[in-house]
Amino acid sequence: MHPEDRERVVNYCVSQSRSGIDHEAEYRALTRDSDYIWIRDVVHVVRHGTEVEALVGFMFDISERKAREDELLRLKLELEALSYQDGLTGVANRRHFDTVPEREWSSAMRNGAPLAIIMLDLDHFKDFNDRFGHPAGDACLRRVAAVLGDMTRRPRDLLARIGGEEFMLVLPETDAEAARIMADRCRQLVHAAAIPHPGSEGGFLTVSVGVCSMVPADGQLPTVLLEAVDRQLCSAKRQGRNRIAVAEAQPAA
Ligand code: GH3
Ligand code: MG
Ligand code: MG
Repeated sequence: MHPEDRERVVNYCVSQSRSGIDHEAEYRALTRDSDYIWIRDVVHVVRHGTEVEALVGFMFDISERKAREDELLRLKLELEALSYQDGLTGVANRRHFDTVPEREWSSAMRNGAPLAIIMLDLDHFKDFNDRFGHPAGDACLRRVAAVLGDMTRRPRDLLARIGGEEFMLVLPETDAEAARIMADRCRQLVHAAAIPHPGSEGGFLTVSVGVCSMVPADGQLPTVLLEAVDRQLCSAKRQGRNRIAVAEAQPAA
């Protein structure tokens, strides 16, 4: 029997046998050729009154079924992961993003911690596509995703592409000042990537950024934060793009 299966299987089978209970177990068994095969062991306990008289066992080779099950499980996990991933950039997609703010909001509320969200939208990106074509636009989106990905250093930080050329960063335990610094760093990094864009003021692709950090108050919903971020992004666009706009005070409940 495979050493990793031994304790589990032996303990179970011995205790069932002692109690006079019929049982089954699956484990890996070593063959004469030094391979492991999966065995399903079905055991009938023959009793004489309360005494256990004998054990009658049947062993079935279930290796093929196990291999199919393992493959199915692997495919299921792979599909599940893919369904939460943006196909173009490899970062989290909208479906993934939608599960996060509520969870982080509850956690921030419990801990009295600030939660920051940064929303980014590429500037004059339609013009970029019109000039260079959609494939170049796609390559640009991948590049920007890679640049922004470098900003998610902590395990719970999340970068998601939530729309065509819109990205979100969810940053737990990040106060307004830290969020402002992160947002401006994102803006600078995209500019520093030096992606040529003749339709842009400085000749390079830029991004506009909305920022807000909040400590959730009792009874408040995460939409308060998401709406504040959205307003700030609009404001950054209105003020001329390639800039960040930060929600000043805590938005009202
Ligand atoms: P603004 O500075 O106001 O944000 O202007 P904009 O042109 O970036 O904004 P708008 O919303 O008018 O256009 C977004 C464009 O993004 C439209 C489309 O050409 C482009 N886009 C959206 N999704 C994709 C995509 O998956 N690939 C490519 N290549 N382009 C995309
Ligand atoms: Mg947009
Ligand atoms: Mg845009």
